[in-house]
Amino acid sequence: MNEPLLLGLLAGITIFLGLPILALNKLKEKQMILTIFACGILIFLLVEIVAHAFEEIEEEIENALEKKISVIPALTTISLFLISLTVMMLAFALFEETFFKAQKTDEQKAFIQALLIAISIGVHNLSEGLLIGNSYSQGATRFALFLAIGFAIHNATEGFAIFTPLKITLKNMKKLLALGAIGGLPTLFGAWLGTMFHSVSALIVFSGIASGGLVYVIWQILAHIKEGNKIHTTTMLAAGFVFTALTELFLEISEHL
Ligand SMILES: [Zn+2]
Repeated sequence: MNEPLLLGLLAGITIFLGLPILALNKLKEKQMILTIFACGILIFLLVEIVAHAFEEIEEEIENALEKKISVIPALTTISLFLISLTVMMLAFALFEETFFKAQKTDEQKAFIQALLIAISIGVHNLSEGLLIGNSYSQGATRFALFLAIGFAIHNATEGFAIFTPLKITLKNMKKLLALGAIGGLPTLFGAWLGTMFHSVSALIVFSGIASGGLVYVIWQILAHIKEGNKIHTTTMLAAGFVFTALTELFLEISEHL
């Protein structure tokens, strides 16, 4: 296997680390509390993806205004982001309404929730793969390695968010592995694509799709949280957010050491 593909694989494969960690926890009673923690992870991820996309868009607008060139390409970029975000939210709603309205057991509902989380995260990870592939093909091999390691650590937290809604058993293993592959392995595919082309528009579209998926999934999780002790649930939500924020900060700092 060539190097950018290996880096892509490294970045995504850690998504499976969530499996043994959750399996070791006898989590039946803790399920709700872990789901809220995972929701905190997803909220941070959403904030981060949107912030990155807007950084890119604002830079494009400033650039156009400074150089007194047309702002239409920049406006196209922001439209791409907003349209892909809206389309993905509607697609998820349509998907649930059309195919899963009849699915009533808790297990089936949990699987659908995990599947939607895996799809949103998979699209976001495709853009991580693209960044790795782009950097590698532009000769920044050391930076590509740093990116891959950073994404690998951050994607371990994403695996946690995907698998939390489900029972981790050997009987479920095929489904669990498939969900992990949907969420994690797009980094491999993205790295391969990234060596062949570089496109800011593609990154923006993937960010929009991932954000739309995450907005939908977060809303679904929060809507289904049963009334309980508000202090407990809020603390867990904040803990998931803070945990992921600290992971990202740690990675950012270690990249510059
Ligand atoms: Zn990721």
